[in-house]
Amino acid sequence: GTFQQIAVPEQGKDELAQMGQTFNELMIQLEQNYRKQEKFVSDASHELKTPITVIDSYARLLERRGMDKPELTEEALTAIRNETKRMKEMIEQMLDLARNNEPASYVFEETDLRILVDDAARMITSAYGRAVHVKGPDQLKLSTDGTHLKQLLIILLDNARKYSEQNIDVEVELLNQYVAVRIRDYGKGIPEKDIPFLFDRFYRVGEDRNRKTGGTGLGLAIANEISIGLGTKLDIESEEGKGTVVTIWLQKKPDSQ
Ligand code: ADP
Repeated sequence: GTFQQIAVPEQGKDELAQMGQTFNELMIQLEQNYRKQEKFVSDASHELKTPITVIDSYARLLERRGMDKPELTEEALTAIRNETKRMKEMIEQMLDLARNNEPASYVFEETDLRILVDDAARMITSAYGRAVHVKGPDQLKLSTDGTHLKQLLIILLDNARKYSEQNIDVEVELLNQYVAVRIRDYGKGIPEKDIPFLFDRFYRVGEDRNRKTGGTGLGLAIANEISIGLGTKLDIESEEGKGTVVTIWLQKKPDSQ
C-alpha cells in the first residue's frame, strides 16, 4: 500500500508543521527505497533463472541422448560452462552492488589521480591487448577513495572496450572547481532514448540485451553507486555509430564547500 501522508497545515511555518513535513519526506524516501529493493529482488531472480533453465535443459539433454550421441557432449558442456560463468559474474556484481552502497566503506585520502588512471588503463591493456591513451597533467593530487575510484574507472574502460573496436582515450582535465576525467571510445554508441535508463540495474541496450554471453547490465548500476559514494557526478554523452564519452566530475576540494 501507499504511505498515508500526515496533513501539514498550508501556511504552517511552526515547528510542528516542519516536523510533519520532514516525516513525510522521510517516509516517501523509505517507501521508494523499499520499492527499489523489491524490484531488484524480482529482477535478480528473473535474471538468474534464465541461465539455470539453460543449464538444466542441457543437462537433461545429456542425460537422455548423451550416450548414443556423443557429439552432443561438447555443445552441451560449452553451453553449461558459459551459463555458469555468466551466473558467477552476476552474483559477484550483485555482491558488489550491495557493498558499494555502504557509505562506511569509503575512505577518503590524498590520492594521485594520474597514478590511478594509468593503473586502470594498464589493466585493460594487459587483459585485452587494447591500447588506452591517457592525456592530461602528469600529477594531480586530490582527496578521494582510490580503491573505489579505480574500480569505477575499470568498469567504464571495460565498457569502452566491450562496445568499441578502436583505441580508447582517457582525458584528465583540471578545471576551476572540478577535475573532469573523460573516458572516450569510438565504438557503436548508445541511442539517445536509452541514455536515461543506463544506471538501472540489468538494463541493456537493443541487441546487447539478447547476447548470450558478455554483460549483465549491472556494470553502470555499480558505477553509479560508486559515483554517489565518491561524491562525484557521472555524465554520459553518446552518438550512435561514432562513440561514447563518459565523464567523471571529481570535486577538487570536497571539504572546502
Ligand atoms: P553490461 O554488463 O551489459 O555492459 P552496463 O550496465 O555496464 O552493463 O551497460 C548497460 C548497457 O549500456 C550495455 O549493455 C550496453 O548496451 C550499453 N553501453 C554501456 N557502455 C557503453 C559504451 N561505452 N558504448 C556503447 N554502449 C554501451
